[in-house]
Amino acid sequence: MLLELKQGILYGPVNSRRYGKSLGINLMPAEKKLCSFNCVYCHYGTTKRCTMNIDQYSGEFPEFDNVVKALEKKLKAPVELDLITFSGNGEPTLYPQFGELVEAVAELRGKYRPEAKIALLSNSTGLACEDVVDSLDMIDMPILKLDAGNENTFRAINRPARSIKFEDIFERLFSLDGIYIQTVFVNGQPSNIGKDDLADYIECVARIKPQEVHLYSIDRPVPNARISLVPPEKLEKMAVKITKETGVAARAFYE
Ligand code: SF4
Repeated sequence: MLLELKQGILYGPVNSRRYGKSLGINLMPAEKKLCSFNCVYCHYGTTKRCTMNIDQYSGEFPEFDNVVKALEKKLKAPVELDLITFSGNGEPTLYPQFGELVEAVAELRGKYRPEAKIALLSNSTGLACEDVVDSLDMIDMPILKLDAGNENTFRAINRPARSIKFEDIFERLFSLDGIYIQTVFVNGQPSNIGKDDLADYIECVARIKPQEVHLYSIDRPVPNARISLVPPEKLEKMAVKITKETGVAARAFYE
């Protein structure tokens, strides 16, 4: 069973061993996945709407005011939470007023939950937009995807919308400070853990110099039966190698 798509604007708080209690914000159309990638391992299944151009879907996003109202109501309620996370059914930065919304969320956080952190889980493609880059200053944990160190593997694993190039994503990540890199490693066909692929990836991490690298593999059913899990022991060894060769703290996460 793949994961069910989120039905509304807010979900959780969900318990995460990494981050504590996280309240998710889903800015994508309800029960529809909209993403600029179609990753081979995506737990939401195949991306039927794989694009950077949201014009044709503009009427389907949740209204700005409704997002703000829903969040304010939740933050005022006696609900424990450590983190407010932009995530959901696809790529959150595709939301048309993303920067403006981050500002509104930061304001509400300051008013009702000053102790909570704001996180963004993004596939990094939104960094092409100045407004998204500017909003990162208001996000405590910008967690950005990098699953490959070269164009071929990037295309095989993330299967991006046509206009997206690996080099552009790398350059944008390289230009940022204080980011977290999140990586999903998979075995099989395709794979991103071969010797050369790993060397290219490590070189990218060394140059980007993120605050931390978070490594995962698949832990639920995925749409592609030809890929498989990288076992926890191997993921741990990869984390040690990445830290040793880049000086960046790398942590492996698995259930
Ligand atoms: S970026 Fe995330 S939501 Fe989009 S296809 Fe990949 S795993 Fe799924």
